[in-house]
Amino acid sequence: MFFAGGEDIPGFKNLKEYDRKMIKNAIKNAAPVVKKLRMNSNDESEKKKNDELSNKVAEQSKLFDHYRKELNSLKNEELYKLFVENGQDIPSKRKDRIDRLADYMAFGVPKKCLQCKHGQIILDDFYYRCDGNIDAWTKCCYTTKEPDKEVIRIPETLKGYPMFKEFNSVITQRLFLNEPSSLADKPLDSHTSLNKKLQPLKNIQFYLYGKLKTPKKEVKRRIELMGGLVVGKLTYTTAAVITTKEKLGKKSTMIQNIKRMEIEVIEESYLDLIEPENGTVLDSLKLIKDNNIANWGSDPIKRVPQDIIEGKNVLKSGSMYRTSASKQKVKIMDGMEVDSRTGLEEKANIYKDTESTFSVVLSNSDSVVYSV
Ligand SMILES: [Zn+2]
Repeated sequence: MFFAGGEDIPGFKNLKEYDRKMIKNAIKNAAPVVKKLRMNSNDESEKKKNDELSNKVAEQSKLFDHYRKELNSLKNEELYKLFVENGQDIPSKRKDRIDRLADYMAFGVPKKCLQCKHGQIILDDFYYRCDGNIDAWTKCCYTTKEPDKEVIRIPETLKGYPMFKEFNSVITQRLFLNEPSSLADKPLDSHTSLNKKLQPLKNIQFYLYGKLKTPKKEVKRRIELMGGLVVGKLTYTTAAVITTKEKLGKKSTMIQNIKRMEIEVIEESYLDLIEPENGTVLDSLKLIKDNNIANWGSDPIKRVPQDIIEGKNVLKSGSMYRTSASKQKVKIMDGMEVDSRTGLEEKANIYKDTESTFSVVLSNSDSVVYSV
């Protein structure tokens, strides 16, 4: 953390008076605030307050620990159901799942972040913090000790469990101990460490179709956190379509297209099966095959480019793969070129009118892309 004021920035003295003023106003010296905090904590009444606070925190954590123990008896699928029912993202570690659910049970479920509007407010050691992103490069840094909350909803299928039978959801503000000043310097966990760890879906393309149980935005975020891509168009390199059984049963034009292209269809619960830390791209593709809810499928392992399966970096434009031009095999038919990767070079008809050949290059994407 940078406590110094704008006047401490190298080169400040070389600036013009007007710019100096602007920078000084924008970056105020934070040091006096720190001093004040330290003085207060030496204060006698402050100390008493702190002791009272610790007692209350200890009291609250008894309830929290009680729920934690009870939740520990649930299977992962049951924990997932609780997250889904409450529209919350599912942490990758079981320990974090239990901690977070115990917090929801004891204190209520935090609503979405007020600052970035979509981030999830999650429990940290000394406050709640937002785990959302403001844009592709900036993490949301919102923290609060008293987020807006709602009562936890218990899924119908779990209501009969002894631990939920007597349970009454309440909203209580959780008390936090004051953050030790040394922790104020703790760097925020960087994006890079996140990205290095969570890549079992690296470059795997998913297509989200229809209304899902969780808002699409959240499903997309989960996929992207694990390295995956959500595409806006269906192509043969799409590893799977994520939708619901109901939507699949409706046999819409889109479903018929998916069937014709023999792309596997999975439910969003597929994402719960991914091992965020140790899972490989190949594991994730196999899981698609194993959890296919359609009665068709041509195996994503055969469709997806080999580099993707090996977890290599690939050329992309947006969420689509780009193939380098030199590798394209083109077959000339009736004076027209047909990209051999389409598998159409033997069957394609080239449209000609009497005057001129249609100047269209058939490529993989042209023959299979259906607009959303
Ligand atoms: Zn936020």
